[in-house]
Amino acid sequence: MSRVAVIGAGIGGLAAALALLQRGLDVDVYEQAPELGEVGAGIQISPNGTRVLYALGLEDALRRVEVLPSRRQIRHWSTGETWDWFELGATTRNRYGTPHVMLHRADLHGLLAGAVLRLKPDAVHLAKRCTGVAQSDGQAQVRFETGETVNAAYVIGADGIHSKVRESLFGPDKPEFTGVVAWRAVVPMPSLPSHLSQMIGTNWLGPKGHVLHYPIRRGELMNYISLVERDDWQVESWTIAGTTGELANDYRGWHADVHAIIRHIKTPYKWALMVRGPMPRWSKGRVTLLGDACHPILPFLGQGGVMAIEDGYVIAACLAKHFSDPAKALARYEDIRKERSSAVVRASHENRKSVFSPALADKDAIAVEIAREWQQVRLRERFEWLYAYDATGVQI
Ligand SMILES: Cc1cc2nc3c(=O)[nH]c(=O)nc-3n(C[C@H](O)[C@H](O)[C@H](O)COP(=O)(O)OP(=O)(O)OC[C@H]3O[C@@H](n4cnc5c(N)ncnc54)[C@H](O)[C@@H]3O)c2cc1C
Repeated sequence: MSRVAVIGAGIGGLAAALALLQRGLDVDVYEQAPELGEVGAGIQISPNGTRVLYALGLEDALRRVEVLPSRRQIRHWSTGETWDWFELGATTRNRYGTPHVMLHRADLHGLLAGAVLRLKPDAVHLAKRCTGVAQSDGQAQVRFETGETVNAAYVIGADGIHSKVRESLFGPDKPEFTGVVAWRAVVPMPSLPSHLSQMIGTNWLGPKGHVLHYPIRRGELMNYISLVERDDWQVESWTIAGTTGELANDYRGWHADVHAIIRHIKTPYKWALMVRGPMPRWSKGRVTLLGDACHPILPFLGQGGVMAIEDGYVIAACLAKHFSDPAKALARYEDIRKERSSAVVRASHENRKSVFSPALADKDAIAVEIAREWQQVRLRERFEWLYAYDATGVQI
């Protein structure tokens, strides 16, 4: 019998497994995919997330793959006019103690997996698709598609937005389409004109759309993400390929620099953004959830992965402290994490309003909108609570 079975070897599941192993708890991770890996896309980890990754001993490993951008800038969707937005780099590190980094997902995933496997070489079990969980006195049981079962003292469902563990505990969910489709792609940086291949993040503001690009993997690649309001595509998956023609059509009339990037994309992928209502509980008996499985977050703040990492650290601390008392361990975990993740879900929702503000359609009004909504001081006030939070220091 495992002490802790983690379902899903994504960013959240691996962060939890690493934190548990570091606290001396035995862990087995069960992943549906036949190989360990992540989609070809970028991820930004803000200082509240790097604080946890540093506490897990990953500072040096991160340094080998990260981009430490100097700043973010805003550009106007049709004229290309550019405004400095906020400082990152040393400013962020000095303010929060840890940096804001831009990464390839596969690099972050690889360094988490490497750290887990160094502590327990046989910790990860591949091609194990969980179909449900059951519980009886003193243990939980995980069922797999293969017909196999494993028993564990605790089960953590880190199996993402379509979580089978969640469904098994609380029944099917009812996602609602937001009317927004996200595109993602990576582009080799050397293929782009030099004014676009800078070590900064850029957000293009426009009507009914938003384009974001930033450097990843030591600056060798550019991560491209864009959001567009349209209602003819409702599949929530990162593995559905679209065409560059369809992507270009979504940004018809946008500045030539946006189209210069789109032209260098080989395969763009599209994902329909869905929302789900907050879950009153995440746990039952000896089984709980983390990350997207219990609080999927719209990507308007870049916090879904960071919240999964924070969850992973806190669940490990709660289990280490109250292992013999499941009710106490999981109640404490929910108490600490629910309030925090709900605030982030709400803030992300709110941010959608400024990202798609109708004022952004108008060339003159955009400067007023930027001065009001996007200015550094105001953003700092709005997000201090988010970035200053220390998941490694909470009282368990
Ligand atoms: C456009 C976009 C941009 C984003 N940008 C950012 C960003 O910059 N910063 C940030 O922090 N977040 C970002 N996010 C959010 C982030 O990607 C997610 O919140 C994060 O990946 C959640 O991690 P997770 O470990 O909970 O789930 P996942 O990453 O989904 O991992 C789940 C794992 O479980 C496995 N699995 C699933 N079902 C089963 C099963 N039945 N049995 C066994 N294994 C299973 C999967 O194969 C996978 O390995 C973004 C999201 C989107 C859509």
